[in-house]
Amino acid sequence: MTTKTLSKTAHKIISRHEIGDVWFNSAALHHSLHSAIAYKPGDIISNFSSGTSQNYATYLTVQTGTDKHITLEPVYLQYINHSCNPNVFFDTTPMQVVCLRPIQPGDELVFFYPSTEWEMAQPFICNCGNENCLKFIKGAAYLDPESLGKYRLTDFIAQQAKQNK
Ligand SMILES: [Zn+2]
Repeated sequence: MTTKTLSKTAHKIISRHEIGDVWFNSAALHHSLHSAIAYKPGDIISNFSSGTSQNYATYLTVQTGTDKHITLEPVYLQYINHSCNPNVFFDTTPMQVVCLRPIQPGDELVFFYPSTEWEMAQPFICNCGNENCLKFIKGAAYLDPESLGKYRLTDFIAQQAKQNK
């Protein structure tokens, strides 16, 4: 890493893992997970399991069913941030993180939060910068079928969306 890159992004690597490194940006107070290697669509990046399971959502949980929200194991997967143009997907049926778009070493891993979350605990305004950015990220329940239809969804979210048409 060059000094120039470091000063520009103000990030440092705080932990290293098999699939990638956790970066911390001290300017934005923001964690992110960056891939160690290249992946192609369909590749299984990681298996995951339920650290803890509870009946309510928090900003750290992933929804696996009605009133079922898990924390992630391995824990560093929690640093996969939201993007409206995701490169990974949390498939909560086989419990695998799957590659959606080609990923190069160093790329930030990002997923679309409403692909797993029906109603989010902490809605936010997205600044991902993609031209298709949806801005208000509150969960799949708040998206129209056309917007939602552009994304790969967990079996649970797809089922919820079908019931709520
Ligand atoms: Zn966005």
